[in-house]
Amino acid sequence: MNQFDFAIIGSGVSGLTLSALLSKEGFNVALIEKNKYLGGNLSSFTRQNVRFETGVHYTSGFAQGEVLDVLYRHLGIRSQINAVRLDIGGFEKVHMGGQSYEFAQGYDLHIDKMCRYFPRSADEIKNFYLEIKKFGYYNSLEGVLNQNIDLNQLSVNAYQKIRTQLSDPLVFNVLTGTNPLYAGRKDYTPYMQVGHILDTYIRDSWRLQDGGENLVDTLKELLKKQGVSILTGEAASGMTFDGDSISGIKLNGSNEIKCKHVISTLHPQKTLELIPSDKLRKSYRSRIESLPNSLGMFNLFLVMKPESFPYFNHNQYHYSTQDSWIADIKDTTQWPYGYFVYSQASKDSRYSSGLVAMSTMNFEEVAKWSGLPVERRGQEYLDFKAKKTEQMLNALERDYPHIKSKIQSVYSSTPLTYENYYNMPQGAAYGIQRNSQDPLSSTVQTKTKIPNLYLAGQSVSFHGFFGVSVGSLVLASHLIGNEKFKHTLLNTL
Ligand SMILES: Cc1cc2nc3c(=O)[nH]c(=O)nc-3n(C[C@H](O)[C@H](O)[C@H](O)COP(=O)(O)OP(=O)(O)OC[C@H]3O[C@@H](n4cnc5c(N)ncnc54)[C@H](O)[C@@H]3O)c2cc1C
Repeated sequence: MNQFDFAIIGSGVSGLTLSALLSKEGFNVALIEKNKYLGGNLSSFTRQNVRFETGVHYTSGFAQGEVLDVLYRHLGIRSQINAVRLDIGGFEKVHMGGQSYEFAQGYDLHIDKMCRYFPRSADEIKNFYLEIKKFGYYNSLEGVLNQNIDLNQLSVNAYQKIRTQLSDPLVFNVLTGTNPLYAGRKDYTPYMQVGHILDTYIRDSWRLQDGGENLVDTLKELLKKQGVSILTGEAASGMTFDGDSISGIKLNGSNEIKCKHVISTLHPQKTLELIPSDKLRKSYRSRIESLPNSLGMFNLFLVMKPESFPYFNHNQYHYSTQDSWIADIKDTTQWPYGYFVYSQASKDSRYSSGLVAMSTMNFEEVAKWSGLPVERRGQEYLDFKAKKTEQMLNALERDYPHIKSKIQSVYSSTPLTYENYYNMPQGAAYGIQRNSQDPLSSTVQTKTKIPNLYLAGQSVSFHGFFGVSVGSLVLASHLIGNEKFKHTLLNTL
């Protein structure tokens, strides 16, 4: 039987990137995906000829010399990725307390705008961004390849630190108004996570004009050319062992492929389900099993009537109160307390053919239907979704008067959708919840006690297209040989 050098489980951004990088170096790779299509959260779907993204609406890192630009040039497919820059003067707009605040790309313009909005807090704002800017090195190609992130920094809590940096509550809530990007929790979210994310997006923000699906298709073609065995519709259901090392992966419980190394990009709790109980220490298993997850999202996908609603080349964040840390609000009566809305990229740059609005959703709200196939969730679930849809539409109507009359059709998803399609526990949008109170326990390392098993994906590295791409680069660099890989990538600059 053919023995692969690497069996990579899961074909989201992480699995696709690792497969591309390792096969480019001549490794014999098998990519295993439970769904019939590749891409995980990078995949798109179409309703009434309008394409919608499931989990990557915008990203950073495509400016010349930035990490994703170099990664895709290295893979030889950069010219096939149509990344369009979001509005420089305001790639995000935060609406709070009846005012709108634009977040600009580039630190000078960004800080200048914020100081104009809040002149009395100008010194605090400048100091706040001075600190955020320090993450720039770690987000640069050189910083990524040198990988000297100090994990102890994860113990600094974002809410507490930023709250002391920005004494005016409005300034604090506006500057952290893109909170859904990291589903920030007051007691848990580390400052380092927020710093990384804010820095990357202020540096450069892009929309994939042809959608995640185009990137997935491009990568798929590349993988085929590089000889990767792409196994779709094949769920990894177990691992077989030869002594302490993995010797193969069982697919759908029957067929098995043989491999020298395994990289699992699944949620770590799902990876554990594939490993016999005697192969890992009990304490490791119970630590991973007990880790809480980040919140999931409720999404509305709106097909708009033709030429009825203008396209906007930025993201909008709306809040009904002056609190952008909405993930901590337990009372759901006035939900959504905040939501994020964007226009799907389309050929006609004047009008939106599709809009997506999303807000965080506590898993407890849908837990009773967890694990049930869609057709068995029943009328109660449909009623729940209808109620949430109406609440979200009312919020949209408040912020975009008459928008309801411009909508042709409405589709929705809940965290259960992500649980079901991507095997993500609790439909967590960003995998495991990072915890500043216990940073080491909530950090899952790539290397495991099983000598030929590596973990990757958004619960291991930082989340997001940029975060998991960086995580994949770092792991690939380790597997290929750091110095050789570094040299090759830096020569691509
Ligand atoms: C609603 C939402 C909006 C988001 N918006 C953005 C955004 O705008 N920008 C951004 O950068 N990030 C965004 N994110 C986060 C981003 O999508 C993720 O961090 C990233 O795509 C995760 O990639 P991954 O490869 O780690 O995992 P996934 O994309 O989850 O891939 C895992 C893959 O493994 C497969 N799989 C699971 N179990 C098995 C099994 N047993 N066998 C085989 N295959 C299996 C799944 O089907 C899936 O394809 C968003 C996420 C959500 C949920």
